[in-house]
Amino acid sequence: MGRMKKNKPSRKLRELHHASRRRQPGPPSTQVSWTPLKQTCGCVVDWGWTSQTADPVSFKDWFISRLTVPCLWHSPSEAGASGDDLPDNMIVRPRGSNVLLHVRKASGDHLELGAQLASRLERVLDKARQGDAVLLDDAPAGFRNWLIKTTLHPAQAWLDHELTDIILNQGRSALPREILEQLPDQLLDSPCAQPESGACDI
Ligand SMILES: [Zn+2]
Repeated sequence: MGRMKKNKPSRKLRELHHASRRRQPGPPSTQVSWTPLKQTCGCVVDWGWTSQTADPVSFKDWFISRLTVPCLWHSPSEAGASGDDLPDNMIVRPRGSNVLLHVRKASGDHLELGAQLASRLERVLDKARQGDAVLLDDAPAGFRNWLIKTTLHPAQAWLDHELTDIILNQGRSALPREILEQLPDQLLDSPCAQPESGACDI
């Protein structure tokens, strides 16, 4: 009886030790996040990244730069090999960077999505080239008002929002456009600003 009692704490201690070891952070995510893009040759290519070898900003910059060039399989000089020799799935290091990105030939519903994302990206970049007023005019009304009210550079904020939705969220928006069009006034006085509010439901 006495020995059992003595054993208990040590077993508990061991368990605790194991539990704390298990709680230690694991390696960064190796799950590749893919976004398809129709490039100038007409091919739809999935570009991918992980937090282990790249970061969202580098991925966004690279993705935008791919809109105006043919895919790697159709620009052999860029890939450093003839297109036919390239595998369908590769890891590339953009010149002058220290990130690694994934690229593969898209298939299935990514073919259509890649075309949609390319035209949406083209549109927002075109608006941005025409200046802040034109760019901001393209934002949903309610969201535009909210940005004007809450940010110093609403046009830049809208551009960042669009690019994030297109490139990092595969075109999905956290909020549907209809809601962004009609953000009610009470929402503009954000409930999140009130300290007693535990959650923000927008
Ligand atoms: Zn191509």
